[in-house]
Amino acid sequence: MSRRSAMIFSAIFTLVAVTFIIKPSDCQLNDNTPPTVYLNRNWILHETDPVGHVVERVRAEDNEQDELSYGLEPSTLNYNGDLTAEQPLPFTIDNVTGIIYLNETLKGRGGQHISLYVTVSDGQLIAKSEVYVNIKTADDFRTGETRTPFSNQYGTSGLIRPFLRLPTLTISPSSSIGYSQYQPPIKTRLQSKLDTSKSSGFNTANLDNAVAANVSEESMFNTKVKSNKSSPTQNFVMTLVLVAVICVLIFGFGMGVWTLRKRICIIKKSKNQSKDATDINVSTISNDLSFDLKRWRSPKADRNRYEAWEKEEKMVDIKLRDDNWEFPRHKLKVFNILGEGCFGQVWKCEARDIGTSSGTTIVAVKTLKENATERERLDLVQELKVMKSLEMHQNVVRLLGCCTDREPMFVILEYVSGGKLQSFLRASREERSQGGPGLTSRDLTGFVYQVAKGMEYLTSKGIIHRDLAARNILIDDNRVCKVADFGFARDVTDNQIYERKSEGRLPIRWMAPESLYDNIFSVKSDIWSFGVLIWEIVTLGSTPYPGLAAAEVMRKIKDGYRLDRPEHCKRELYNIMYYCWDKDPVCRPSFTELVNLAEGLLLDETDYIELDRFPDHSYYNVLSLSGEKL
Ligand code: AMP
Repeated sequence: MSRRSAMIFSAIFTLVAVTFIIKPSDCQLNDNTPPTVYLNRNWILHETDPVGHVVERVRAEDNEQDELSYGLEPSTLNYNGDLTAEQPLPFTIDNVTGIIYLNETLKGRGGQHISLYVTVSDGQLIAKSEVYVNIKTADDFRTGETRTPFSNQYGTSGLIRPFLRLPTLTISPSSSIGYSQYQPPIKTRLQSKLDTSKSSGFNTANLDNAVAANVSEESMFNTKVKSNKSSPTQNFVMTLVLVAVICVLIFGFGMGVWTLRKRICIIKKSKNQSKDATDINVSTISNDLSFDLKRWRSPKADRNRYEAWEKEEKMVDIKLRDDNWEFPRHKLKVFNILGEGCFGQVWKCEARDIGTSSGTTIVAVKTLKENATERERLDLVQELKVMKSLEMHQNVVRLLGCCTDREPMFVILEYVSGGKLQSFLRASREERSQGGPGLTSRDLTGFVYQVAKGMEYLTSKGIIHRDLAARNILIDDNRVCKVADFGFARDVTDNQIYERKSEGRLPIRWMAPESLYDNIFSVKSDIWSFGVLIWEIVTLGSTPYPGLAAAEVMRKIKDGYRLDRPEHCKRELYNIMYYCWDKDPVCRPSFTELVNLAEGLLLDETDYIELDRFPDHSYYNVLSLSGEKL
């Protein structure tokens, strides 16, 4: 998921969340508060009050300024708190003004109590206030009870409670919240008071007192209800704050997820990068012939025949010092540099008392430059490991010792005076073109034989070289060829086949098709390289597939194209190299067979390489421009 999609995702998520938040808050924003009712809830009437007498004037306010409509409802709960049958009320209310009139005579009802509800509706919600009516007889007034005149309802008479904003019951037509959900606490409290009153000698005055006493409690309740009800503006602000907080949280969450994802990507990327450094960079050929080797990605080989080498090499690293190859650095005297690559250097040195020889020996010391990466370090470690496993063979460069106690690491090799076979051959071509004696066909066939011998030995030790080419063969003053450069060599004793995991620059032109396309390396891919090496020897160090870019080489090899027979190379010799280039690795010869074939050529007096026919201008050396190993 890209950063953009993460942002879009978080925006959508926020929107959905806000919609959900706003949905309930919509209700809040449109919340219609119930009307607030002001009335005297304890009416004291006289049985002689005339019909039409104004009993109470209900006042109500509505926050939303809705049109209010007043009403009366008989209660099924009588003054004692008992359930009774609904009685018709002797009152009527003007539903516009809220004035309550007596609409039938109360004569003969002195001493009765009536419970009823005054309702005020704003069209949506109904506020219900319970009222208790106490009908007095003429005698009651005579004994001194003062009847509260309507005008006196704001007074503070002992029996008449002062004007109060009474608890109201809000009933929404669409809501299931109703009387029963609000009323029980008040009722229960009232009921218990009434029960107490009953047990302590019930009389109406006590009830009035009980009701009056209940006022403060109800006032508290009312306050509570009121405090729970926020104004629409408050609600709106609160909703906004809530939405903002949730948006911030969601945004934070989104950013958190995105950051986490980014971190994971970075970790993955760095892992991939280090893997890239260790993964083969070969791929199917693109049409762009000027491809960059670093960008190559091979089709993933489906055979994993070799376990990861990093782990293995770390172990080697530890074991490195556990043997007697270690040589004291101070016994090395540096002469001059023999050559250097991007990351490594080879120095000509003098070693004192190295190996079994006493006195001084000229040696070649391989080391790494300061800019060398872990990959190059591991290659050198690997080279050392492979060389340690070898005994002396005249066609393989010999390890004399190493300095691995600290950086820089030194790999001490036998000094091979003539340098690289590739340079040697090219120098000979130059010499020849200038009329010098140059090399003979027999010399060259001898090189083929010697390298085959060296490789036969390595194969017998379970080593595959993986970079067999004239540049990695050293030649001494006696024209003895020695296989060198085991940086990519691997011990495949157990598996016979190695699936390469790494490499930066690749020796494309020396690689077998299965190595190029499937990363598979075996002694048979070394055989393929050996065939190319014969071609190099025959052409005096020319670059294979002259005139072709590496991508073309790969494509042509896949299509079955092979290096042409150089005109000056006899068919017998060309057949040997061609034999090495069989598409099927199994059909390629072994090094032993190649040793025998080369030996056969040597024993034969024929010149299989007719150097006098060497076309000086047909072959040339290509400099590596694309990072390809040449
Ligand atoms: P390399 O880094 O393997 O290409 O070697 C760099 C240079 O060092 C080449 O020119 C080689 O000829 C030279 N060299 C490498 N190993 C030896 C050796 N054992 N004896 C003499 N010269 C060597």
